[in-house]
Amino acid sequence: MALGKTAIVTGASSGIGEATAKELASKGYHVLLAARREDRLIALKKEIEAAGSTADYKVTDVTSRSEMTALIEAGLEKNGTIDVLVNNAGLMPLSFMNKLKVDEWDKMIDVNIKGVLYGIAAVLPVMEKQKSGHILTISSVAGHTISKGSAVYSGTKFAVRAIAEGLRQEIDPSHEIRVTIVSPGAVETELTDTITDEDIVTALKNGQPMEMLKAQDIANAIAFAVEQPAYVDVNEILIRPRQQL
Ligand code: NDP
Repeated sequence: MALGKTAIVTGASSGIGEATAKELASKGYHVLLAARREDRLIALKKEIEAAGSTADYKVTDVTSRSEMTALIEAGLEKNGTIDVLVNNAGLMPLSFMNKLKVDEWDKMIDVNIKGVLYGIAAVLPVMEKQKSGHILTISSVAGHTISKGSAVYSGTKFAVRAIAEGLRQEIDPSHEIRVTIVSPGAVETELTDTITDEDIVTALKNGQPMEMLKAQDIANAIAFAVEQPAYVDVNEILIRPRQQL
């Protein structure tokens, strides 16, 4: 059975990735869900199918180049093309530099930067062969600004903006391949669960209260970029809660 266009979403087991997978499925994409927590992926696949759309999942650690390659191959095998890759998986263990949480720095570099690079490495040859496709990368407002405690996280999010913009410039103009960076502000998800620096936890608790974005708001922004005609490349979306500085 032909399944229409395929979208692969990394970090689909929660938050922005989960909402994006549901949104793209509702727009007719066959979605391939990737993350490490299999139980979450199974539940999401069921939810998408119950809503009348189609989904598959593949347990994937984005820090493994071979697992990222296998993910793209699984999508190709099922449906023959990869139309959209959303490089979304990420973590944000904010900390002050002098706490020397070097393991957390390493993890952020591995997931937030190398995970995105491995996604590009796996999908770019496929999209070049197809002469079409759309690679979206989730950066952050922290990829535009730096604050105390965000040095390494911001570093990773600046890095993926640079990588995605460089990729965009290198795309053969005769190919219908688009590259989009999405930079959200504060979104209500599980992202802050990775913070172990108690001073940061306290600072966040004592911060100015505001109405945060929902994961669905980012899913809507992603769907907007994806749904433009092929000659339109939405290069970057910066989206904050109205009350965020
Ligand atoms: P969540 O914590 O809800 O989701 C993070 C996702 O990343 C999970 O699905 C997790 O799945 C996945 N993930 C983490 N590590 C790996 C790994 N090694 N391999 C595969 N998947 C992994 O947070 P958000 O939805 O908020 O985050 C999504 C993206 O949005 C991130 O890149 C984040 O930096 C970015 N962002 C978020 C903002 C916010 O305020 N929430 C603001 C700006 C950007 P699992 O653990 O199952 O592997």
